[in-house]
Amino acid sequence: MLAVRPALPSEYGAIGDLTASTYLDEGLAGADYAATLRDVPARAAETTVLVAELDGRLVGSVTVATRGGPYAEQAEPGTAVLRMLVTDPRARGAGVGTALVEAAVATARTDGCLVVRLSTKATMTAAHRIYERLGFTRTPARDWSPLPDLMLLTYELPLAFCGHCGEPGAHEQCRRKLVLDPPRYCSGCRRRMVVQVHPTGWSARCVEHGTLTS
Ligand SMILES: [Zn+2]
Ligand SMILES: [Zn+2]
Repeated sequence: MLAVRPALPSEYGAIGDLTASTYLDEGLAGADYAATLRDVPARAAETTVLVAELDGRLVGSVTVATRGGPYAEQAEPGTAVLRMLVTDPRARGAGVGTALVEAAVATARTDGCLVVRLSTKATMTAAHRIYERLGFTRTPARDWSPLPDLMLLTYELPLAFCGHCGEPGAHEQCRRKLVLDPPRYCSGCRRRMVVQVHPTGWSARCVEHGTLTS
C-alpha cells in the first residue's frame, strides 16, 4: 500500500540519504549542495517535507515551500515551490512520484497558495510526464541555470484563477470589479461561467463546480 504523509523526525536521516544520493547520481548536485540536501531538519523547520511509504518502506520524498524563506527560490507571496522530489529507483512504476506531487499540491492549497512552481532537469522526462498529467504547464521565461552546465526547466500549476479576467491569481483591480459584477470565470477551473442577472442579483454557474449567487 502506498501512502504519502508528512515526514517524522526519525525519518530525516533516511530522507536526506535518498535525496542526496539521487541528486548526485543524476548530476543535479555537487558535494556542497549534497550537504544541503541531507540537512532535512533544517528544511523541515521552514517547509513541509512529505514522504511516500510503500508497504512500510520509505520510497520517496518531496519538499513544499509555501511560506517563502530560503527554500522558496525567491518566490513571490502566494507561491508554493515544489523541490527535492525523489523516488527510490526500486519503487519505480508504483505511482510514487504522482502521489508525492498530488500531496504537495494539496499542501499548497491548504496553505492558501495561488500557484505551484518547480524547476526540473531537461532529461527527467518521466517527472515531466507526471507534472503535465497533473496540469502543470511550462514557463520558459523562468528557466534558469544554477550551475554552469545545468539548465533547469520550470513548470507552474495555477491553483486559482481570477473570477474577473480568468488569469491565474488574484488581482486588486479585478477584485473591485467583482464587488459589483458577477464573476465571468470559475476560480477553480477557469471555465466561462453561465451568468444570469435577476432583478434582485445574479447567479453564475460552472458546469463542473456549481453555482455562485450574489
Ligand atoms: Zn483578474
Ligand atoms: Zn469550475
